[in-house]
Amino acid sequence: MTTAQSSTEQQRIDHFFSMPAARADRWRDLTGIAGDWARGEADSSGVVQALDALGSIENFHAFPGRRLMASLRESLHMGVPSAFAELARRISRSIITRQYKHSAADWESDDLTVQLDESTVDTPIQGGGERPYFEMLLVTPEASMRSNRLIDEMRRLRRTEDDFIYEAVQVSSFEDAICAIIINPSIAAVTLYEGFGQTSVYETPLLRSFLDAIGFGAQHVARDDRPLALADALKRIRPELDIYLLADRQVEKLAGDDRSSAIRRVLYSVEELLELHLTVLEGVAGRYRTPFFDNLKKYARRPISTFHALPLARGKSILRSDWIRDMGEFYGLNLLLAESSATTGGLDSLLEPTGTIKEAQEMAARAFGADRVFFVTNGTSTSNKMVHQALVAPGDIVILDRNCHKSHHYGLVLAGGQPLYVEAFPMVEYSMYGAVPLASIKKALLDLKEESRLDRLKIVDLTNCTFDGHIYNTRRVMEECLAIKPDLIFLWDEAWFGFARFSPFLRARTAMGAAGEIENWMKTPEAITQYERQQQELRPSPRREDLLAMRLIPDPRQIRLRVYQTNSTHKSMSALRQGSMVLVKDVDFPSVETQFREAVFTHASTSPNQQLIASLDIARRQMELEGYGLVANAIEIALDIRREVNGHPLISKYFRVLGADQMVPPEYRSSGFTDFLDPGMTWVDQVRSMHEDEFCLDPTRMTLVCGLAGFDGTEFKALLANTYDIQLNKTSRNSVLLQSNINNTRSDVAHLIRVLLEISKDIEERLARNGGPSREAFGNRVKSLMTDVPDLPNFSRFHEVFRRDAGDLTPEGDMRMAFYGGYDRAATEYVPLFSEECDRRLKEGPEMVSANFVIPYPPGFPIMVPGQVITAETIDFMRKLDVKEIHGYERTKGLKLLQPDVIAAKARA
Ligand SMILES: *Cc1c(COP(=O)(O)O)cnc(C)c1O
Repeated sequence: MTTAQSSTEQQRIDHFFSMPAARADRWRDLTGIAGDWARGEADSSGVVQALDALGSIENFHAFPGRRLMASLRESLHMGVPSAFAELARRISRSIITRQYKHSAADWESDDLTVQLDESTVDTPIQGGGERPYFEMLLVTPEASMRSNRLIDEMRRLRRTEDDFIYEAVQVSSFEDAICAIIINPSIAAVTLYEGFGQTSVYETPLLRSFLDAIGFGAQHVARDDRPLALADALKRIRPELDIYLLADRQVEKLAGDDRSSAIRRVLYSVEELLELHLTVLEGVAGRYRTPFFDNLKKYARRPISTFHALPLARGKSILRSDWIRDMGEFYGLNLLLAESSATTGGLDSLLEPTGTIKEAQEMAARAFGADRVFFVTNGTSTSNKMVHQALVAPGDIVILDRNCHKSHHYGLVLAGGQPLYVEAFPMVEYSMYGAVPLASIKKALLDLKEESRLDRLKIVDLTNCTFDGHIYNTRRVMEECLAIKPDLIFLWDEAWFGFARFSPFLRARTAMGAAGEIENWMKTPEAITQYERQQQELRPSPRREDLLAMRLIPDPRQIRLRVYQTNSTHKSMSALRQGSMVLVKDVDFPSVETQFREAVFTHASTSPNQQLIASLDIARRQMELEGYGLVANAIEIALDIRREVNGHPLISKYFRVLGADQMVPPEYRSSGFTDFLDPGMTWVDQVRSMHEDEFCLDPTRMTLVCGLAGFDGTEFKALLANTYDIQLNKTSRNSVLLQSNINNTRSDVAHLIRVLLEISKDIEERLARNGGPSREAFGNRVKSLMTDVPDLPNFSRFHEVFRRDAGDLTPEGDMRMAFYGGYDRAATEYVPLFSEECDRRLKEGPEMVSANFVIPYPPGFPIMVPGQVITAETIDFMRKLDVKEIHGYERTKGLKLLQPDVIAAKARA
C-alpha cells in the first residue's frame, strides 16, 4: 500500500475506537460495490476504492489472510467481477458471522492461480470445530516468505487433541505490534522474534501520540532492547496477553532486566516450534481454567446420595414432585445437580477456602491486578460492609462521599465509624451529583491535621465511577492524600466499574490500576527526588492555600499502600446477580487479616450459592480471554449511541446525551478535553484527559435528557419499558441513564434509535395537530422539568450531642449513637412533612434531629442520616420531590425524629 493511499483519514489504521464495526461496514460496502460491478452496473473504480478503504487493517487479522486477499486482488487485476464479488461476499459474511473461527472451508481459496510463494500450496487447514479460537501475533524481522512459511508451519502443528485452535498474524515492527493488539481483540498470545523493526509501514500519527501518552514516546529503541521494551508496552496495554520470546541471545542478559517479567517464557531458536505451539496452548489454557466451576461440573456428574440439609440438591424433591416439577424443567437438571451444602468433593468452603475457591480467587486476583480477592455472594452491599467492619473501629473517622451507596452509611453504623461527609459537586440542572473534588478531600485531611486528629482518620471511601459515570483520578487522589497521611486506607467502591480493568483507556483510573502505578513509581529513583524537590519548594512552612492548590507528592519511603476495591461483578461482567468481589492490595493486610476474616464471618451467609461462586470464576475467565474486545465494543456502542442521538436532526430536538463537557465542569478538565463527539477531539485527547483530568466521564454511562421531550425520568423509563421493551435503571427529574455493557450489540443501538425517532415523531405530530395551546402546555412542561429544579441540599450537620469527640473544623459525628437512639420508641416522635409544626420547628426550634436514614429513589442518596439536624433546604427539597419511593420515610406519619427533650437530656449528661 502506498503512502498516498494510506494518508486519508478513512484509511488511517489508528482510529482505534471504531475498529471492529468500521471493519464490518467496509466489507459490507465492498460487497455491495462488487455486486454492482459484477452486474455491469458500475466499473471497477469503486471496487478499487472500497478495497483500499479496507486498507491495512486486514494485515492485523489472521482472517481473511494474505492468501484470500491476494486472491481477491488477483480477480480484480484480471478483471473477473463475478469471482471477485463472490469471494468478497464470502469473506464479508464470514467476518460478520465469525464463522471463519470454526470452518476450515472459509479459509480456502478456490483460485489456484494465486500463489504467494511455493510454501502456500497444499497447506492443510484444519477447522476449529467447536474449539475456542484465538489468534497469535508473530512479531518477526520482516514480512517475508520465511514468515509466511512460519504461519503455515504453525498450522501443521495442530493436533486433534488440542483444546484450542489458533491462527497466526504476522507483523514486523514495534509499532505494528502495538496496533495489532489494539485493533485485533482475538489476539491472545504474542511471540516475539528478535530483530524486528521499530516504525510502522503505515501512517500512524495518532498511535505515536498514544505511545507518548503512555510513556513509550518517539525515542528510538535500540534493536537489542526492542523485545523487552515491546513486551513491557504490550503488557501495559493488555496485561492478560501471554508473551513469548524466541531468542538467540543468552538468557542471563534478559533475566537481569526488570521488564523480562512481562515475558512468560523464553524459547531458543526456531527449532522449538512444537515447543512454542504447546506453550501457547498451555498459556491460554491457564486462563481458560476455572477451578471451582470445573470441579462443580465434575461433582454434578457423580452419583451422590445426600444426607445433608438441602432437599433440592440432586433434584429428587423436585423431579419426583407432582407439584413443582416445572421448576426442574425450567431451570434444568444441572442447576439441581450442582447444588450442595457440603464442602467436600472439591467444592471447597467460601468462608475458609483451601481448595478450588482459593485457587479461583487467586486467579481473579491476577486478572484484576490485586494481591488477593475475596468472592462475595451477597452483592457489593455486603462487600462494602465487610471492608468497613474489618478496618474501622468505633470512633474511627471515615471520609465519605455523602452521595455514596447506602451500604457505606449502614456499614459505618454497624462498625461505629464516624462519617466525615464530603460533598460531590452538584449538577442541579439534572438533579444529580458529580464526584467529590479532591480539594474537599484534602481540606478535610488538613483540617484533621491542624487539630492533631489525623490519627483518628482511617479510610477515604469514594465511589468510582459514580452511577452517572464520573471517574476519579484515582492515582492523584491517593497520592495527594498519602502526602498528608502516608498510611491512609482507600476504599474504592467500583460497583459499576469492574470491567474497566480490561480497557487500556480506563484501567489507570481503576483503584487497582492506580495502585499498581503508584507501586511502580515508588520503586523508581525519581520518586524520592520528586518528593524532595517539592519539599524544598514548600519550605520553611507550607501555607494551607499552597497545599490545597498544588499537586502534592507523597514520600515514597513513608507510604503504606493500602487499597481496597469492591465491585459488583454481576453489574458489569457475566456473573449471576449478587456476585461480587473484594479486591485487596494492602501491604499491611497481614496485620488485619484476622479482623478481615471475622468481618467475612459476620456478613457472609454460611450457605453460599454454588452457582454464584462458579459464575464469579467464569466471569474472570471470560474477561481474561475476551474482556478486551467486549469492553472495546461496549465503548464503541456507547459512542455510536451518543453520535446517533445528538447528531440526528429530529431526535436531537427532543433528546440529548450529555457530553463530558456537560457532565464535568471545566475546572476539572485541565487537559481541555471537551467531549468524545467533538470533531476537534481525537482519542488521543481522550487518553490525555484520562491521564490528567481530575474527573473523566465513562463513555458507557449515558445521561439521556428526556425533559426536553416533556417526560420526567420516571415517566420516560416506564414508557420505554412498557411500550418498547427497553429496560433501564436510573432516572433523575429530567433524564434517564443508559448504560452499554459487554452484552450490547449494534442491533441494540438500532432499536434504541428507532424508538427515540418514533417518540420524537409522535411529539412533532401531536404538537402540529393540536396547535397553539398544546404547544404552550408542552413548553411549560419542558420548562418545569428543565428549569424548575429543586436545589440539592448539602449535608447540614450532626447535632452537637453526637459530636462530643469531634473537632471544630470537621463535621464528623457519632451516627451509630443516633441510629440506636431511634430504637427507643419513647425517645422518638413524628412530624408530618407538610405541616405547620414542621415550619414552626424550622423557624423557632427546637431543632429537628433525624432518627434514621431517609433515602429517596431517585436520586438515591440519604438526604437525612441519623443524628442530622434538619434544615429548611432539606425540607424544601423533600417537599418538591415527586418520587414515589422514599426509604425511611412514612408518608402517613411524617419525619421520624429524636425527641427534643431526650436530646436536651443527652446534652446535659
Ligand atoms: C449497586 C451498588 C452497590 C451495591 O451492590 P450490590 O451488588 O447491588 O449489592 C454498591 N455501591 C454502588 C456504587 C452501587 O452502584
